[in-house]
Amino acid sequence: MRQYKTVQVPKRVIESLRCNCCGKVIQSRECFSAVKHWGYDSPYDGEVHAMDICVDCYAAWIQNFAISPVLTEEKRESEEG
Ligand SMILES: [Zn+2]
Repeated sequence: MRQYKTVQVPKRVIESLRCNCCGKVIQSRECFSAVKHWGYDSPYDGEVHAMDICVDCYAAWIQNFAISPVLTEEKRESEEG
């Protein structure tokens, strides 16, 4: 027979979020977030990079891309399928 009791488990929650690019506080949870563990054959051997980029900085960043990251319906099927 199992007897249960209720316990409180500490939980980590985001208290504040700042854009790595401009440093502004990101008000919305809608932003670009990425974590990259770099391998030995990169210039960042063994480093872990994590970033949160606000929508404004993201928009400016992707304007410089040679290939748009925006997936059209056609691209979406080939990327996700
Ligand atoms: Zn920003």
